[in-house]
Amino acid sequence: MVLRQKRGLHGFLNTLDPNHSLGLVPTMGALHFGHLSLIKKALVENETVIVSIFINPTQFDNRNDLEKYPADLEKDIALLEDLPGDLAVFAPHKDDMYDGQVAAASYKFNGLDKVMEGTFREGHFQGVATIVELLLRTVAPKRAYFGEKDFQQLQIIKNVVAQKNLPVTIVGCPIVREPNGLAMSSRNERLSAKAREQAGFIHQTLLTAKLKFGTENAQEIKDWALGVFNKAEGFRLEYFEIVDETTLTPIQAKQKNLKYRAFVAVYVEDVRLIDNMALN
Ligand code: AMP
Repeated sequence: MVLRQKRGLHGFLNTLDPNHSLGLVPTMGALHFGHLSLIKKALVENETVIVSIFINPTQFDNRNDLEKYPADLEKDIALLEDLPGDLAVFAPHKDDMYDGQVAAASYKFNGLDKVMEGTFREGHFQGVATIVELLLRTVAPKRAYFGEKDFQQLQIIKNVVAQKNLPVTIVGCPIVREPNGLAMSSRNERLSAKAREQAGFIHQTLLTAKLKFGTENAQEIKDWALGVFNKAEGFRLEYFEIVDETTLTPIQAKQKNLKYRAFVAVYVEDVRLIDNMALN
């Protein structure tokens, strides 16, 4: 079933038993196997799943990126059709979703937005938090599913849910990769076949960083990563960071009881790609 308006969504939700477990998977469409892994997990864990498909204008700091974002609702729906289980697609128009006020609300994230994506994409997480809170309040799911592909986003959403006391469990899901290691992303569609193949280098670099993490300090690894990206033709590095995965603060001296993660943002053919990996 495809619901194009909040009214239709509410009508559908009203037909469900109140004790029914409902899962929500928010997406911006151009669905791929990464999205499907979240949706399949949601279908296993819940009686009904809502997949939202909505290109959220308030989280784009770059107009060009918004305009070029791939959109093909028919194709997305076709991809979901064969999945077993009770699934509905919610694909509203922006004015309906935002009740005519297409603007981000204002949030404090306890510093989680002061690094990486938060620094390089101004206002991005305000827009993300706004749409996610709106979707959570509109759908009222028992569980909502997000990918570790956007690990900083996942931490920020957990923070918003805790701050606002929203009655939902946030479920994080592992990164799904293409055969060459490139993290699946709707933006990969904008790469030439050659660049898409070469972009496996991002994953290779993260794997080597993980190996090095056993013996080298974080600054040495960062310097090494900056060097290899500088030398690699066709890559323009925006950042490479190693941070504490809970607070997202840059690593000082390694502490045994903390978990660390490496994060990267890099342009390939003017397409901005992000990836991350747990180091310990
Ligand atoms: P998007 O449509 O890019 O906003 O992504 C919707 C959700 O799917 C987000 O929670 C993403 O983190 C997640 N996602 C996107 N790509 C992947 C991937 N390759 N592996 C796992 N989750 C992903």
